Amino acid sequence: MISERLKSVIRDIPDFPKPGIIFKDVTPIFKDAQLCTEVIEAFVEQLKGTKVDVVAGIESRGFLFGLMLANKLGVPFIPVRKPGKLPFTIVKKSYELEYGSASIEIHTDAFEPGSHVLIHDDLLATGGTAQAAAHLVTELGGVVAGFAFVIGLDFLNGRKSLDTFSENIVSLTS
Ligand code: AMP
Repeated sequence: MISERLKSVIRDIPDFPKPGIIFKDVTPIFKDAQLCTEVIEAFVEQLKGTKVDVVAGIESRGFLFGLMLANKLGVPFIPVRKPGKLPFTIVKKSYELEYGSASIEIHTDAFEPGSHVLIHDDLLATGGTAQAAAHLVTELGGVVAGFAFVIGLDFLNGRKSLDTFSENIVSLTS
């Protein structure tokens, strides 16, 4: 099963990047080409019946499978980036972190209004980042088609902060 296969390679790194955080290191997944293929197939399977016009990947680990998934679905990929990285006209959304705040940006011409945009990141924790991405998608006239994560840390209640945008929240492991 994909969940168990992922669990066996994802590394827990205690106290990274700060004391008290158990960082989920996904880099070993990318060393296994077959597992990467299975991850994309699992996303495609779980997204059957979901209309996706565009995949939006969140910087930076959301770029990795985000582009692969977009390519597999035959749709465009768009990057959701940290401030100051995108060169064209942008819209920006700030959001609260446990300590402090952060912002993400998207190009204003990233997709056509009315597009169904799937938001992807490697990991769902509090949901603050994906929620901010969903705000940007709706601000530009897009429809949030759903959310796709490799890892969903359910104990942080991230789903609750996303389901006003879409209840279609997929994660492959916990
Ligand atoms: P959140 O906004 O709280 O849902 O956090 C999700 C974002 O922070 C994603 O971009 C993740 O890559 C990153 N992140 C949060 N917690 C962790 C963790 N424990 N291990 C790895 N990445 C994390």
